[in-house]
Amino acid sequence: MSRSLPNILVTGTPGTGKTTTSEMIAEVTGLEHVNVGELVKQKQLHEGYLEEFDTHVLDEDKLLDELEEILKEGGKIVDFHTCEIFPERWFDLVLVLRTDTAGLYDRMTKRGYNKRKIDENMECEIMQVVLETAHESYAPEIVVELPSNTIDDMESNADRVKQWLDAWKVNNSK
Ligand code: ADP
Ligand code: MN
Repeated sequence: MSRSLPNILVTGTPGTGKTTTSEMIAEVTGLEHVNVGELVKQKQLHEGYLEEFDTHVLDEDKLLDELEEILKEGGKIVDFHTCEIFPERWFDLVLVLRTDTAGLYDRMTKRGYNKRKIDENMECEIMQVVLETAHESYAPEIVVELPSNTIDDMESNADRVKQWLDAWKVNNSK
């Protein structure tokens, strides 16, 4: 896919800071933040809500069609906790945010998640599920693991993306 600007995927266990970090990256780079969870709710790209798991069941076909359209021109920061449902060709960079367990636990408690969801997400983070899935789904050179424990981390992550984007522009200009 030829794009005038790259697409970046920001993924990680819920609570690792995808949305906050994506907003900061958008501010620093001028790229556009696409919050997939919000999009799914707004455009009803799901087959219903599962009370027990406090989650929507994705309508993957609908979601992929919608996103294909949004991403084709490039310049998007896609924020989602699942990374294996997207075609590899969509992304030029995949960031996997990581948070230490104590900090992640606090964030989820503050969010009012139920115990089941907290346990599930804690295990997901400890077992590095998203990182491993990202490595299985994308080329190794585009997958970057980033710490997301502090505001300083977030700022330096956003800075890093800005530098990466500047280099991308140089390498992809004619
Ligand atoms: P996600 O989108 O991955 O679920 P959010 O961006 O909504 O995570 O962040 C969850 C909570 O953690 C928010 O209250 C946010 O302010 C806080 N947070 C996120 N990233 C960091 C960070 N790097 N340092 C400190 N707090 C953070
Ligand atoms: Mn979020």
